[in-house]
Amino acid sequence: MDAVGAPAHPEPLFGLLEGNSVRELLGDPLTEWRRGERAWPLDRVSLLAPIMPSKIVGVGRNYAEHAAEMSNPLPKEPIIFLKPPSSIIGPEEPIVLTPFSQNVHHEAEIAVVIGKTCSQLPDGESALPYVLGFTCVNDVTARDLQRSDGQWTRAKGFDTFCPMGPVIETEVDLAKSTVAGFVNGERRQFAPVTDLLFSVDFLIHWISRMMTLLPGDVISTGTPSGVGPLRAGDVVEVVVDGVGTLRNPVVAPANVSPLEASRHLSETAKGH
Ligand code: ZN
Repeated sequence: MDAVGAPAHPEPLFGLLEGNSVRELLGDPLTEWRRGERAWPLDRVSLLAPIMPSKIVGVGRNYAEHAAEMSNPLPKEPIIFLKPPSSIIGPEEPIVLTPFSQNVHHEAEIAVVIGKTCSQLPDGESALPYVLGFTCVNDVTARDLQRSDGQWTRAKGFDTFCPMGPVIETEVDLAKSTVAGFVNGERRQFAPVTDLLFSVDFLIHWISRMMTLLPGDVISTGTPSGVGPLRAGDVVEVVVDGVGTLRNPVVAPANVSPLEASRHLSETAKGH
């Protein structure tokens, strides 16, 4: 953060968005907190990813039109996978492409942030008290590796493949909200949240039967149709109505040459 009358680069802080200013939040937003004294204009603040979860649970094929564009049948149960927290970046941080993939896609999604420990949630009980709020996620995916690996961990787990933010909005009307994905200002993806095959409430119940959801954990609920490739120089935006816009540039990989990557790939193919 950078503000008049405050150190130029203080430590990262949680903040409360109040109109066009950000007020420091003292304590832990997941347990006990209170409003602090200091505040900064929003345009003088560098936003980081709004939370560092213990896990990010992704959901595959949760919009019918996206399943169709991938030539996949509709799932009878949610298809879930994990993205590593090390893949998280904040707003405006670059998505770094990888020489291991020739087909890295954007996936605009609305994501749930869990506020309270949630395990074995009974069917009749509402999941709402376990929700802290909602944020935008770009579930960046190496589509070629997703297909060739079968398992999705590598395809969805590269560093920088989980842009998140810009905020956690605690009051979102899911009946009215929409998810959109833009590349270089052109809208590629769009759907109302009500198009989700498995609702937020259903997903929390269902996932809590397999794994305990901890405060701060994130469930990224799946992407609408219109996914497509990202290239170095692109700017990609995830817009969730009622939450905000998550904007990230796309850059070429810096340290690994395509030659090294292809050598590695051929060695992998030989069984090393
Ligand atoms: Zn996804």
